[in-house]
Amino acid sequence: MLPASSDVIVVGGGNAAFCAALAAAEHGGSVLLLERAPEDEAGGNSRFTAGAFRCVYDDVEDLRALMPDLTDEEVANSDFGTYTEEKFFDDMGRVTEYRTDPDLCEILVTRSKETMRWMRDKGVRFAPIWGRQAYKIDGKFKFWGGLTVEAWGGGPGLVDALTAIARKNKVTIAYEARAVSLIADDDGIKGVRVKHAGKTVDVHAKCIVLAAGGFQANAEMRTRYLGPGWELAKVRGTRFNTGDAIRMALDIGAMPTGNWSGSHAVGWDRNAPEFGDLTVGDNFQKHSYPWGIYINADGERFVDEGADFRNYTYAKYGRVILMQPKQFAYQVFDSKIIPMLRDEYRIKRVTKVRANTLEELVNKLEDVNAEKALETIKTYNKAVMTEVPFNPNVKDGRGTRGLAIPKSNWANTIEDPPFEAYAVTCGVTFSFGGLKIDTSARVIDTDGAVIPGLYAAGELVGGLFYFNYPGGTGLMNGAVFGRIAGTSAGQRAAQMQA
Ligand SMILES: Cc1cc2nc3c(=O)[nH]c(=O)nc-3n(C[C@H](O)[C@H](O)[C@H](O)COP(=O)(O)OP(=O)(O)OC[C@H]3O[C@@H](n4cnc5c(N)ncnc54)[C@H](O)[C@@H]3O)c2cc1C
Repeated sequence: MLPASSDVIVVGGGNAAFCAALAAAEHGGSVLLLERAPEDEAGGNSRFTAGAFRCVYDDVEDLRALMPDLTDEEVANSDFGTYTEEKFFDDMGRVTEYRTDPDLCEILVTRSKETMRWMRDKGVRFAPIWGRQAYKIDGKFKFWGGLTVEAWGGGPGLVDALTAIARKNKVTIAYEARAVSLIADDDGIKGVRVKHAGKTVDVHAKCIVLAAGGFQANAEMRTRYLGPGWELAKVRGTRFNTGDAIRMALDIGAMPTGNWSGSHAVGWDRNAPEFGDLTVGDNFQKHSYPWGIYINADGERFVDEGADFRNYTYAKYGRVILMQPKQFAYQVFDSKIIPMLRDEYRIKRVTKVRANTLEELVNKLEDVNAEKALETIKTYNKAVMTEVPFNPNVKDGRGTRGLAIPKSNWANTIEDPPFEAYAVTCGVTFSFGGLKIDTSARVIDTDGAVIPGLYAAGELVGGLFYFNYPGGTGLMNGAVFGRIAGTSAGQRAAQMQA
């Protein structure tokens, strides 16, 4: 049974929602969290993640504060570098082509460090991302790409921890509780209509935080906003993020903002299921493409695979793959690179071919013009600047010469057998367009006024990401703005009580 009312209601059950619920609970009122999914599928996209958080740290002491388990030996064997506010700002500016909302971006960057500490103080544990974000050079792990910290146990560990902490902090969690509309009048929010275990009921609230994800799992909205062809993309994460909360807020006059035709989308196994599978998590992704080449159905390369570190290109290349004939491409590697491929290349459910000659390889590539593919690989091999040493830790400048589509870094010839190729299509992660909020996470209406009592955080907020995204920012965004939204809602509810 749902309670008839709650001081604060949080709609959603992912990272942003739990951070909001925990922050709201600090102000003493009752907090109800509505999760549309059943408990065994709960946790939204947050649960599908590797749990990587992009956060500012100025030195190793900042990391120790987050990860007190770090031993002296681990610190001595690692080159963590730094990730300063300046670097985070630069990354956000560069990848969004300087369209990111400056006020929201400033909050995201400058509050990332303290928000991580707040999560740690609540009981969330973190660890360095040894496996995916560091290479061992001369016996030392060198971290790259500004992404160093992950939640203990990845996304599932994060959601489990947040759920347990929320329960400890007296947050009421309702599963199979789908918010369907907001109850509001001229004075603002009054409550939410919920379909809970098959029955529709109204639950009253002083404040509501919307943290119910984007619209990427809704094929109709994808096609309407991202454009024709997007109904053919696979959804990487939860099937429950169908844009409900965005629609509910727009229905009461909230302002849409941000990159509505944009999304985070990556190369994802061509035969992956339509929605994410929690037993596989993010392992349908294939993120080692900067070390190899992409070939499409016409047998041609179509993108600069080595334009930048993986963290800064992967989120926009899904769209590029979707735009190829038959919406797929192969990633091709030879034996020099195969041992370096990320773990996700070694899962059971992978669409892969292997061959001992290039001729054999191209003939095994399903739906691909083999003759053209062979020509493409041979032309590419001749163009590689083999005189420049390959170095995966830096943008090594080992590019190609004279190709219509250059490869700027990490160009390795594909000539040493055995060869492997992996088929990928577009996997959409989350939509970029969403609701307009102010720096207190209050939802703004189409007249530019605050909607009293309505707050939003996470994937469904627009304005931060355009065209692209620096890896690990989604969870940080949800945590920073979830906490702010929860604090704002908790404070307002307490004031109304007084
Ligand atoms: C495979 C994969 C890997 C990723 N890896 C990373 C990573 O390592 N680092 C990173 O920063 N980001 C990563 N991301 C992106 C990240 O998952 C999101 O940016 C982030 O989790 C969004 O958090 P959120 O709380 O806003 O949304 P979500 O975690 O998706 O939560 C939304 C919640 O709302 C619920 N909901 C939806 N509709 C309703 C409704 N009507 N009523 C009630 N509840 C509703 C959903 O069930 C869900 O619980 C990854 C995403 C995927 C899919």
